[in-house]
Amino acid sequence: MAKFRKKVKDALPGSDWSPQGISRDLPPDQADIVIIGGGIMGWSIAYWLKMREPQRNALRVVVVERDLQYTKASTVLSVGGIRQQYSMPENIQMSRFSAHFLRLINGYLGVVNQPPIDIQFNPSGYLFLATEERAAILEENVQIQRMEGAEISLLSPAQLKKKYPWLNTDGVALASCGLENEGWFDPWILLNAFRNKAISMGVHQSSGEVTSLISRHEELVTPDGERLDLSRIKFVQVQMPGSIETARIQCAVVVNAAGAWSQKVAEMVGIGTGPPDTILEIPLPVEPRKRYVYVWHCPNGPGLASPMLIDTTGAYFRREGVGGNYLGGLSPAEEEEPDIQDLEVDHEFFQEKVWPKLAHRVPLFESLKVKSSWAGYYDYNTFDQSPVIGLHPLVVNLYFATGFSGHGLQQSPAVGQALAELILDGKYKTIDLGRFSFTRLIKGEKALERNII
Ligand SMILES: Cc1cc2nc3c(=O)[nH]c(=O)nc-3n(C[C@H](O)[C@H](O)[C@H](O)COP(=O)(O)OP(=O)(O)OC[C@H]3O[C@@H](n4cnc5c(N)ncnc54)[C@H](O)[C@@H]3O)c2cc1C
Repeated sequence: MAKFRKKVKDALPGSDWSPQGISRDLPPDQADIVIIGGGIMGWSIAYWLKMREPQRNALRVVVVERDLQYTKASTVLSVGGIRQQYSMPENIQMSRFSAHFLRLINGYLGVVNQPPIDIQFNPSGYLFLATEERAAILEENVQIQRMEGAEISLLSPAQLKKKYPWLNTDGVALASCGLENEGWFDPWILLNAFRNKAISMGVHQSSGEVTSLISRHEELVTPDGERLDLSRIKFVQVQMPGSIETARIQCAVVVNAAGAWSQKVAEMVGIGTGPPDTILEIPLPVEPRKRYVYVWHCPNGPGLASPMLIDTTGAYFRREGVGGNYLGGLSPAEEEEPDIQDLEVDHEFFQEKVWPKLAHRVPLFESLKVKSSWAGYYDYNTFDQSPVIGLHPLVVNLYFATGFSGHGLQQSPAVGQALAELILDGKYKTIDLGRFSFTRLIKGEKALERNII
């Protein structure tokens, strides 16, 4: 009775109690598709599923996200770059589609009666520098990029010096420069645009952490009489935030879009924990790897014409706004990977590893002032640094979209579209991403991208 009285009191005019407030993020009991992870991948997939649903409200799609502030999500801690300069045709095709999508973003993600979306696209291009040793590979990559329709120019050191007088070309034999569809944009705005649009189309957002996947065993006899032990996820268990309550969603399909944490999600259904010499012994090889981003002020720096520059050493920088600020970083060597317990920034890394490389390449950076910094996690695929996309061979209703190792933001529009095709049509229709399937991990076939940053 006391409880009831309190509820009535809370519901009186002037109180902020609302039945909707309490149940807002509770997941439904049943859904067709549950997407684990509400970063850029999760929301892009949700959006494309609704775009492709055979009739309005035919699909119940739920996105479960444990941290709606996105404090550690890679998406909002990325540097927002998009480039066409890859070596694998699939990566080039994905980024080309994404560039088209971003150009027409209001057609795709605009919502009636809401302000137009401006993702603050900065079309300044990427500039890759290569040493004598790597020049032939750079040239080969550019040939592939051009075959895929990308507009990329090759520059000799003399041409480079003419175009970018502030650049020290010592040790540079060749450079490639994107003439269109490359630059950077605001990741938050794209994430919110996907989420807003998907919710407007009926996707349910649920706040909570997926803590277990409850599956049933299924046996399949192949035409050759071989018996296969399969499993099918029946329920997704969600721990509600700030509570001991859990909710269970009965579902037909599950998508693991949990980014840097997707290996843990895969383990919930036995992937990577199976007995030796079985397929379930093979883990999803995706783990968090910490990457630092430093922002510095250099009023006399390269200025407005500065592209996203990728040095021969792997160090990179780009302009940040128009007030003489720049940001950049460097992926550490494998043996120097930092501890991932927290997102603390190592300032010595900038002093010792990043700054000397950038100041050598751009002497104007010899005097600069670091203003701020942050760290984020790459959803790093330790097997081959390429994504894992598609079905697991033994868990028949579990799809992956993870392991993008530093370029997932820009690929999200294309991956969402492709995965929606795979789920709803049973095959890829626009871009064939079959090369990124889990099966390659079993076969030990690497999908090696040569242009990783
Ligand atoms: C420093 C840095 C720079 C980068 N620069 C670029 C760039 O320039 N261009 C580019 O394209 N990419 C870049 N990336 C990579 C890009 O950010 C990622 O590949 C991409 O954001 C991955 O998106 P995601 O949705 O898979 O992961 P996330 O954004 O990490 O989202 C995953 C979500 O899953 C949630 N989650 C995890 N486990 C659970 C669970 N059990 N239950 C519920 N929710 C869960 C997490 O809270 C998280 O919000 C960069 C990354 C970093 C760190």
